Amino acid sequence: EQKAEEMKAEENKAEENKAAEIRAGVDDTNFFKEEDEPAEFAEEKLEPVDDNLVCPICLDLLFEPVCTMCGHTFCKACLTEDFKKCPLCSEHCFMNDAKVNIALRNVIEKSFPKRVKKRQYYHDKRVKELEEELKEKDNFSEIPVFFIMGHVTPGSNDFLRIFEPRYHDMINLVLQRDRKFVIIRKRAEKLGYLVKIEEYRRVMDNRTIIKIKSL
Ligand SMILES: [Zn+2]
Ligand SMILES: [Zn+2]
Repeated sequence: EQKAEEMKAEENKAEENKAAEIRAGVDDTNFFKEEDEPAEFAEEKLEPVDDNLVCPICLDLLFEPVCTMCGHTFCKACLTEDFKKCPLCSEHCFMNDAKVNIALRNVIEKSFPKRVKKRQYYHDKRVKELEEELKEKDNFSEIPVFFIMGHVTPGSNDFLRIFEPRYHDMINLVLQRDRKFVIIRKRAEKLGYLVKIEEYRRVMDNRTIIKIKSL
């Protein structure tokens, strides 16, 4: 009986050691980092941000800042022409007319060169990725298919929240084409709904709300 207890204790110890080994191997300092983010873009190496120069849409330092007629300022890429009103004050503005404020951009570039370099890096990377995806897609010229739990009412509008990165990429692709895609609610379901994106709003970097109409 004593032997059995000893064996049990030994087993427990071995399990504990194994758990400690696993814990030591997990480096959670990189948990929130992009997979292959260059070391120079680590947050602690960048200039502290001035709250007055933060874009209200992406909550990052203004990049290619555009000013609306109501006086509010956003990144050019964040303020798409699909915003019919200012996202901050709801005043009607002509979004597609908004030009980059060159003086403000120059001041930001001079004061935050490292942060601007980081934003430029990810901007270029994203554009390149989108171009690659478009090239690939055009070879097949197929309509993207989403497997989504959302609700689709034939002939009327529904809203979908997009937060999974792969769906976000697909939405970006769909927006650059004819805005149409197919929703299949369950993999087993043979029936799909052809829908069109009528409006979309980027809430955060990787969150988008889209208004769809089933065709
Ligand atoms: Zn922005
Ligand atoms: Zn405004």
